[in-house]
Amino acid sequence: RTRGEDPNHRHRLGVMGGTFDPIHHGHLVAASEVASRFGLDEVVFVPTGQPWQKADREVSSAEDRYLMTVIATASNPRFTVSRVDVERDGPTYTVDTLADLRAERGEDVDLYFITGADALTQILTWRNSDRLFDLAHFVGCTRPGVELDTTVIDQLPRDRVTVMEIPALAISSTACRKRVAEQEPTWYLVPDGIVQYIAKRGLYRP
Ligand code: ATP
Ligand code: MG
Repeated sequence: RTRGEDPNHRHRLGVMGGTFDPIHHGHLVAASEVASRFGLDEVVFVPTGQPWQKADREVSSAEDRYLMTVIATASNPRFTVSRVDVERDGPTYTVDTLADLRAERGEDVDLYFITGADALTQILTWRNSDRLFDLAHFVGCTRPGVELDTTVIDQLPRDRVTVMEIPALAISSTACRKRVAEQEPTWYLVPDGIVQYIAKRGLYRP
């Protein structure tokens, strides 16, 4: 029988945190690949409130980033969007995101936090990094063009961390914003609805 009918099956929830300024196909491919590899029932995208690592630049409003995330994920029945980080005051810390989702979804859910492997190498510097591995399994997706510092990953608990190669695209939100500012196309780097939303709202214009 299928896992859905198995009373012992624990719901497997992927958690894709990000600034999503804008969301692009690298994020969507990573979520889809991890979902397939780990048999996830759902991937919840969680746009950050104030990203503390990005205090040095203008970040689009939380509502614009939230709406873009909804638009980009709407066509996938397994993709959802959460407002937990947008609605929490103050800077966003992954430990709070995971604790809130755990509280909201209950104990019968296994959490898989999906992150770029580059971000994973910084994990020991994140707030309450020791607690993070009790809350979730961490999946670090390799990103083309970014050298991996394996000395950090080798120190993380082996049973709670997976580094996974995905056919991700050498694409970043930074590059998308720069393209918009320079009036270069973003078609096919981001979903069509995101190209249109950026133009409609006048985002990333110099
Ligand atoms: P920015 O350039 O503004 O930092 P970004 O493209 O890195 O944006 P974020 O919203 O910062 O996007 O990323 C959210 C998560 O997605 C991070 O864990 C990041 O490492 C991961 N990620 C971003 N782009 C890719 C990609 N092309 N392939 C795989 N993972 C990615
Ligand atoms: Mg980034």
